[in-house]
Amino acid sequence: MVIHNIAVIPGDGVGQEVVPESLKVLETLAEIHDGIKFEFTDFPWGCEYYLENGSMMPEHGMDNLKNFEQIFLGAVGDPRLVPDHISLWGLLIKIRRECEQVINLRPAKYIEGVKSPLANPKDFDFVIVRENSEGEYSEVGGTIHQGADEIAVQNAVFTRKAVERTVRYAFKLADSRNKKVTSATKSNGLIYSMPFWDKVFHEIGQEYTEINTETNHIDALSSFLVTKPASFDVIVGSNLFGDILTDIGAAIMGSIGIAPAANININGKYPSMFEPVHGSAPDIAGKEIANPIGQLWTAKMMLDHMGYDELGKLLLDTIEETIGAGVKTRDLGGTSSTREVVDEIVKRLKRRV
Ligand code: ATP
Ligand code: MG
Repeated sequence: MVIHNIAVIPGDGVGQEVVPESLKVLETLAEIHDGIKFEFTDFPWGCEYYLENGSMMPEHGMDNLKNFEQIFLGAVGDPRLVPDHISLWGLLIKIRRECEQVINLRPAKYIEGVKSPLANPKDFDFVIVRENSEGEYSEVGGTIHQGADEIAVQNAVFTRKAVERTVRYAFKLADSRNKKVTSATKSNGLIYSMPFWDKVFHEIGQEYTEINTETNHIDALSSFLVTKPASFDVIVGSNLFGDILTDIGAAIMGSIGIAPAANININGKYPSMFEPVHGSAPDIAGKEIANPIGQLWTAKMMLDHMGYDELGKLLLDTIEETIGAGVKTRDLGGTSSTREVVDEIVKRLKRRV
């Protein structure tokens, strides 16, 4: 029996509803797959913890967390209780940095039965690989007063190490998918960083001769995600470009309640962290109407990352079937509760055993 130790942080708001429900599904999947077991350890960190203890996690919390294989997280933050910058920096960003989660991954896929805002969404299915540690979101720069004028300078930092590992991750991913990588650039406007990015992309591309490559300027690429999303497989971008593209990806899927994400540690030293795109949704928390699909799809990404691709595929197929059968929450136009959706998925999975 292989035991996988997973740290679970439900966090705030709807995280406390969708995470425990998702664990039921993971347990069912472990039953289906002979010889594995998930051992979940719950960490009650979040805004309520902060109000009681004055920090988002205990002093040695991070050391403890680093011993786990993966981190499964719901949502952190509730601006009614704790200012966002405290909850973000005290937990989410802290984990991303200390666990060296240098890649952010976000799939976007058309799901039958989810109303996309696109008139003709077709069958799009792509993944955005975002550099998650440097780039435009750097701490280099400053503000100066010059006479009556005021100037802000924000520098972007691109290291070969980070660009290479991000681009390489994208190529490896494309190799296991539909063999195409599109790089987001803006080398006609950003004259140092983006030509460098393009150069590294080209170099690594030559190692993967069986993968088709394409380079698009970020402005054009943003429009293509709306006009022809089905033409993409893997898209790789810098921290800022990836940030913008991933929001477009989530938007064309039709509901923030279904979009998954992962922060990946690629050196194997520390756990990766799997968290849905949505936040704690204080407006609907406690009403049992939160869509659990974002969290469940996040669980699928965790399974893929752990090498259980078949279980991941089974889970996503079952999610699609369940939505197709009309068992869905209000944000998707249904009437089911969080638990009813999960129970239906568990029931359908058990039928396969
Ligand atoms: P954050 O600042 O934490 O990134 P946010 O406050 O910008 O998040 P969310 O908390 O994700 O945004 O909520 C945005 C909107 O989406 C809200 O109206 C919320 O009710 C809705 N929403 C978020 N998650 C879900 C979900 N799982 N199911 C249904 N609706 C959701
Ligand atoms: Mg918020």
